[in-house]
Amino acid sequence: EMTESVLTALYGNATSLNLTCKKLKAVPTCVSTIANLSVLLLNNNSIGGLPAKLRALRHLAELNLGNNALNEVPAVLGHLESLKKLYLFSNQITAVPPDVMGGLSRLRHLSVLDNKLEEVPVELGHLTELTEINLTCNNLSWLPPQLYQCKDLTKLHVARNKLTRLPEVVQWVSYITKTLTLHFRELGHWQNSKSWTWLETSCETNMELQLHCMTRDNYSVQFHLLPLRKLYYEGNRFVRCEPMSSVQDVEVLTLKELAARFVLQEDRKQSSLVHMMLPHYPTLTALLDNCSCCAFCQKPFLGTWLECVHFINLKKDMKMKSSRTIPVRALLCSHKCFNMAGYSYYGVATR
Ligand SMILES: [Zn+2]
Repeated sequence: EMTESVLTALYGNATSLNLTCKKLKAVPTCVSTIANLSVLLLNNNSIGGLPAKLRALRHLAELNLGNNALNEVPAVLGHLESLKKLYLFSNQITAVPPDVMGGLSRLRHLSVLDNKLEEVPVELGHLTELTEINLTCNNLSWLPPQLYQCKDLTKLHVARNKLTRLPEVVQWVSYITKTLTLHFRELGHWQNSKSWTWLETSCETNMELQLHCMTRDNYSVQFHLLPLRKLYYEGNRFVRCEPMSSVQDVEVLTLKELAARFVLQEDRKQSSLVHMMLPHYPTLTALLDNCSCCAFCQKPFLGTWLECVHFINLKKDMKMKSSRTIPVRALLCSHKCFNMAGYSYYGVATR
């Protein structure tokens, strides 16, 4: 049956060949002689590699190798210069060789979903025609900042990886002017306030944000300040709005905290000596990068005094269709701010 499809394609001078689900362990070498082939579907087989002769397919624009037995990205792909769509999902791929990337300059759509990638080569940033990258379900703990060079990127899927911090992506989110889909499923500590502020101020797009299953947190970050087009937040175990009274004791701040607050406050003034001198103290600057801003008085602080939530109504506050209420994180600087009247921040109780 497989031979039949290949022969029909060969003698019919076909432009597409479908060898899906043919129990193939290897690609028949005669496939490389179908000179006009532009679409080749090899998904759902047991293919472990590709023959070097396949480089003869000069017009191949779409190649589907999904659900096979590849351990690495086949080197021959680097010679398929017409490729626009490459599907490598559900294999056992551990690495993407940088030299393969070099030949894929016209690639627009790349799916490496469900593999074992620990790293993405920085060369991926050279593929400037990319519009969609799917890296879901891998072991990535880092993304190359060079991706900001992919100016047409509209969808980036990075869910179910080992990414724990926002900065890696935030840096180039700001360069992208179209819709960007960020799936942050199971993203751990993405509360670094500086990167979040960056996202708030630089995100001019109507982006789509997916905040699924943030298992560590029982509230979400300040998403309501972003110009979102869509928001997904399924599978979160958020705190519920069930007010109960509690007593917060006054706390004496450490000398380090008091000094940090003074320096941070001074750093906000352009004319301050502290502001001018701070760049000369990189370790101090790095330490102060973890600072936050009080939700009530807007003053900076280093150590959080109290982590609170306030409740956002999607219909009322964001003009979305859903009338659900979502808890959003807010940090307060002091006992004084917590006890001020006229706002609705709640401390989080655990039972
Ligand atoms: Zn305050």
